[in-house]
Amino acid sequence: MTTDHTQPPQIDTGRAHPARVYDWLLGGKDNYPVDEAVGETLPPEARDAARQNRAFMNRAVAHLAARGIDQFLDIGTGIPTEPNLHQIVQRTVPAARVVYADNDPIVLRHAEALLVSSPEGATDYIQADVREPGEIVRHARGILDFDRPIALSLIALMHFVPDDQDAHGIVRGLVETLPAGSHLVLSHAALDLFPELAEQVIAQYAKGGIRLGFRTRAEVARFFDGLELVPPGLVTATEWYGEGLEPPAPEASGIYAGVARIP
Ligand code: SAH
Repeated sequence: MTTDHTQPPQIDTGRAHPARVYDWLLGGKDNYPVDEAVGETLPPEARDAARQNRAFMNRAVAHLAARGIDQFLDIGTGIPTEPNLHQIVQRTVPAARVVYADNDPIVLRHAEALLVSSPEGATDYIQADVREPGEIVRHARGILDFDRPIALSLIALMHFVPDDQDAHGIVRGLVETLPAGSHLVLSHAALDLFPELAEQVIAQYAKGGIRLGFRTRAEVARFFDGLELVPPGLVTATEWYGEGLEPPAPEASGIYAGVARIP
């Protein structure tokens, strides 16, 4: 971990944070009353969405590891929740190298759990904001080989970056740093699948001071422009499973998910 923090990270318990609300939704313990207050006002489907999203992450990175991808750049990592991405991929590829990034100091506080790599592989953590992708890429170049395929995972992240913060441009810029054969793994809360629930969730997060930019299918599809979506394409989180994997149980989901190859 090269983030230079001589002081322990400052945790702001006076307002809700996305990572901690998500942790609450997953049934975790690394959250505060302000986060719980937001979580409790959300429809119960929000908890399903968090679980389904996490399960998609599991399947998508296992799928890529099984196909020989051994380098991962995961932005918007979240509070460690077992199994974490590196644990999943190192089961298949013990030498896999993983760089994690998140902008929330609480993730840095718990980063130790993200840094216990297999001896053959490597894991690293940087506290950084996806809206400053240059810093993340500079850091990742120290650990990952950008001349070989890398999986970039932006899982349940980009709905925290509204359009006026150039969400699509940020993803485009990150993708352009990756060599052919790399992959983009992205999941995103839908505005148009269950519109009333989506509006409710957006309103409750807003009350907690968190701005959300849920997107329609067409808007999420734009993140994959120019890339080759792997089967089954851009679907809901519960519909995505890679070749050779057990299909998940059928279940409604308000999360879009996709994996694409960078040509
Ligand atoms: N990817 C994990 C966690 C999703 S929760 C999973 O799918 O299980 C979203 C995470 O994105 C939170 O940890 C939050 O702190 C982080 N995040 C939100 N905005 C961010 C930003 N601008 N830059 C970096 N991380 C951000």
